[in-house]
Amino acid sequence: MNYGKLYLCPTPIGNLKDMTFRTLEVLKSVDLVAAEDTRNTLKLLNHFEISVPLTSYYEHNKAQKGGVLMEKLKSGQNIALVSDAGMPAISDPGEDLVKLCIEEGVEIVPLPGPSAFTTALVASGMPTGRFSFEGFLTTNKRSRKEHLEEVKNDTRTLIFYEAPHKLMYTLSDMLEVFGDREIVLARELTKKFEEFYRTTLSAAIEHYKETPPKGEFVLIIKGADKQALEEERKAALPTPEELLKEYSALGLRSKELAARVATELGLSKREVYDTYLKIKDTL
Ligand code: SAM
Repeated sequence: MNYGKLYLCPTPIGNLKDMTFRTLEVLKSVDLVAAEDTRNTLKLLNHFEISVPLTSYYEHNKAQKGGVLMEKLKSGQNIALVSDAGMPAISDPGEDLVKLCIEEGVEIVPLPGPSAFTTALVASGMPTGRFSFEGFLTTNKRSRKEHLEEVKNDTRTLIFYEAPHKLMYTLSDMLEVFGDREIVLARELTKKFEEFYRTTLSAAIEHYKETPPKGEFVLIIKGADKQALEEERKAALPTPEELLKEYSALGLRSKELAARVATELGLSKREVYDTYLKIKDTL
């Protein structure tokens, strides 16, 4: 018996008109729909008058349910995986099912369609040439900070998902680690109250103190400033005089000393040797 296929089916992130013809066709044709939230998906299927068996696949049952779905796929059933909204396998357990299918030789068919972070990024006005999708920060204080520290010096545009009740906490942690960067808060995308708030981290915090955040958010943060990073790096380096002193104390002499200091500081040997000649009597 041939194996069935796993279809990754994106669903609207707000506006039901964003459902694609192909996704509808696949949802109508599969044997089973595996959904992160069966109640939400049932509403969606009812809206499009699709009647198909539905089962749950979410974070807390994925370990056991993955095996069950795999057995069905191997017995020839076609399954559509849908996330709560948007593209499955982005910041949801779909990733694990995809891995399992690859291990077991089950074909995966990804369908293009709505995705919250690409929708936010393209209208943000931030550089789109290079970006890093960072998903959700955890709730654990230490690992949140570690995550932010890890990307602090990344010059690419940074993208995060966040729930409204954790937004202030996240903005404050970001301000503490990144400094006052530019941010675009893309809210309620594709919905009636869609909003792009282009501001800075500190101004966003002030704003949401007055107006408590509502709805769903994608946060687009300006990457680190390359020039400022380079200046910071240079400011942290010792001066040629300091290094010449340090290495001459180790017994290195003139040319060898100048060459080593030049390499370490990214300067020309000639330049460092001239400095050496000026201060050699003090070494
Ligand atoms: N897999 C989905 C995707 O990438 O499209 C995202 C699922 S993730 C569990 C849910 C998060 O996506 C929300 O917390 C929010 O950050 C973001 N999101 C989903 N729909 C959104 C919308 N209409 N406007 C803004 N952000 C949205």
